[in-house]
Amino acid sequence: MKPRVVLGYDLPEEARNVLGEHFEVLGPFETEEDRIEAMRDAVGHLGGRISKELLQAAPSLRAISTPSAGYDHLDLEDITRRGIVVMNSSAPLAETTADLAFALILATARRVAELDALVRSGHWTGNEHREHNGVDVHGKVLGIIGLGHIGSGVARRGALGFDMRVLYYSPRHRPDVEASTGAKKVDLDELLITSDFVCITAPLGSETRGLIGRRELHIMKPTAIIVNIARGAIVVEDELAEALRTGVIRGAGLDVFVHEPLPPSSPFMSLPNTVLLPHIGSASDETRSQTAVYAAENLVQYLVFGAPRNVVNPAALEAHLGR
Ligand code: NAP
Repeated sequence: MKPRVVLGYDLPEEARNVLGEHFEVLGPFETEEDRIEAMRDAVGHLGGRISKELLQAAPSLRAISTPSAGYDHLDLEDITRRGIVVMNSSAPLAETTADLAFALILATARRVAELDALVRSGHWTGNEHREHNGVDVHGKVLGIIGLGHIGSGVARRGALGFDMRVLYYSPRHRPDVEASTGAKKVDLDELLITSDFVCITAPLGSETRGLIGRRELHIMKPTAIIVNIARGAIVVEDELAEALRTGVIRGAGLDVFVHEPLPPSSPFMSLPNTVLLPHIGSASDETRSQTAVYAAENLVQYLVFGAPRNVVNPAALEAHLGR
């Protein structure tokens, strides 16, 4: 009998086929009770949230693969303690998400959504006023917080496509990205003080939660634009909204929020200098499909071939291999 993998979301057929060669594939399930029941004999899980109850019901579980770069939806400490390996899927979605970061940079700088609404409303009366002006993107300073898969893609687009000077704040030096884009590693304050566009592409964790708040916003240029395609909680939302309302910075392009879907009461809703998207960083047909296949292959690599990749909790791997 094939070992069992349980799905937490509706996996595209091509990814299901990758799993089907090696595993009995069950799910997704209509109810959480059914998913928990199926987990009793599962060795792997792909996609969706994982509750404590689900972990407790799965004594044979060895691996969780997520078709996302972020894994802040998982209780990594608990999962690692149980010796379960978590694998993520950054590589296949980085370029598309970097595209979206640039879409937000351009849309916010040139007020695309706001002026589209103006045209549709019939209030376009002439071009003689400055009131439709935006700001240039090309030739400006682009500051990137977190120079990983997505951040490197944003750096390349900025330097090579828009002739931008790139600064980055990230734990490690990236000589490869520096060589291809001229990017310079700086501390956070220097990045915030100097950049015209600040793009957040770091993971959410204890060090980045609330990283950008009132103090950080106040040292930015009043003409600066902030773009967040990482996670909402990296920014203190109320303080960002206040900074946007009072002209401390010029604008914000946001794909991610602390509460998603964004509630109607959010202060961002009434701010015309924001562009708001429904967490669609990697949401293209091609990338969603490729990422699902990649996440399925993560499970095959580890559970079938014993060659784990993209492991975000190596401590669990060590514990597991040591058993
Ligand atoms: P990644 O390759 O792991 O890159 C993250 C980068 O951030 C790494 O270079 C990392 O440095 C750096 N970093 C870690 N801690 C930091 C800190 N305290 N301050 C500044 N930089 C820090 O991940 P990725 O694939 O680029 O994705 C980044 C994040 O984007 C994900 O975690 C996810 O939350 C988000 N995301 C959102 C969407 C969307 O739909 N909007 C799509 C994909 C991803 P080290 O390598 O040295 O640790």
